[in-house]
Amino acid sequence: MSDYNPRTDTGIPTEPVGSLPRPSTLQAAYADYDAGNISKEDLEKEQEAAVKDSIERFEATGSPIVADGEQRWSSFATYPITDTLAGTGLAPNLAPGGQFFAIFADGHGRQLPKLTGGPLKYNHYAADSLAKSLPYAHKPMKQAVIAPSMLALLYPLSDPVAGYSREEFEEDIVQECVADIRKAFEVGAARVSIDFTEGRLATRDDPRNPWTGAGLLPHFIELNNRVLANFSDEERKSIGVHTCPGGDRDSVHSADVPYNNLLPEMFKINAGYFLIQLSSERDRDPVYESVGQHSRDDQMCYIGVTNPLSPRPESAQEICDAIVRAADFIPKERLGTTDDCGFSPFSIDEKPNHGSPDYAREIAFQKIANRVEGTRRAAEKLGVS
Ligand SMILES: [Zn+2]
Repeated sequence: MSDYNPRTDTGIPTEPVGSLPRPSTLQAAYADYDAGNISKEDLEKEQEAAVKDSIERFEATGSPIVADGEQRWSSFATYPITDTLAGTGLAPNLAPGGQFFAIFADGHGRQLPKLTGGPLKYNHYAADSLAKSLPYAHKPMKQAVIAPSMLALLYPLSDPVAGYSREEFEEDIVQECVADIRKAFEVGAARVSIDFTEGRLATRDDPRNPWTGAGLLPHFIELNNRVLANFSDEERKSIGVHTCPGGDRDSVHSADVPYNNLLPEMFKINAGYFLIQLSSERDRDPVYESVGQHSRDDQMCYIGVTNPLSPRPESAQEICDAIVRAADFIPKERLGTTDDCGFSPFSIDEKPNHGSPDYAREIAFQKIANRVEGTRRAAEKLGVS
């Protein structure tokens, strides 16, 4: 385990979720690779350049912990099982055309592959890309991994897969998620957070997307706890869970779902810390209150203080004020800060509110720099060190 102390630089800990917009040149390379116009080596060269640029600029923000922006991944959800969003490099026993993970407020959807047989094994662990990114970093790195509850959606909602029961499949994805986290720590991650965007969506009851009305939230919590049961109390301090209402193409999938459908349940997940979308909530006080009420003494609450879907950078003072307000509801010793979500969870993302992914990258780094500065100011004001 790393000896990273998240309080050293900023008093109140601060940490990103994970993704950054891919530069337009990299997005074009993904499309060219899918079309068969460039080789895998050509794509990897573009990924490498984007990772190097991402880490350099991340470090320039003053952030005490950095990430590679998931520049080598198809998406936050599908990196273990496919090389690209179009399905090039799909893992065995999967085919295109599975369930929609989400249908977003702007009408676009994101579809998962479909399980056709067993077993399901990861083609790629987060540690594989982290190991390639670490040599560029001078600061500790965090790593995001996908939750077993997201990959559970690969299994058809009502039709069993012949010769591979849901129970067998779920045991496989729990073990793969455990391996994903362990390997990330082994290669050098200082912290690992589990992306759990499907949590709030699980109570949406959207007739266009039947799994959201199937009452799956308690089962999702249980799957995540089966993973965490494989780690010691000490290890779990460095393992987080991220919740958000989605953040793709500057649109959301579950912002209109009452947050309290999720929060009391979410803190039953035995993680050491939570990265909680909050700045884009219309009414923040009740959410701070719920977080304070339902989180446990052994759970750090990293509240979202920047909105990756908006091109307006929140000022450091605005961020400081939000943290000070949150401390009225959440014990200041258990407060941390984060961005509401990754800045671009899918490899192809035009970032329409921003005008271009390249401009969205500029804005993302400004937001991160302001988050770090605002957090430092709030720690001074609250006397947290
Ligand atoms: Zn998110």
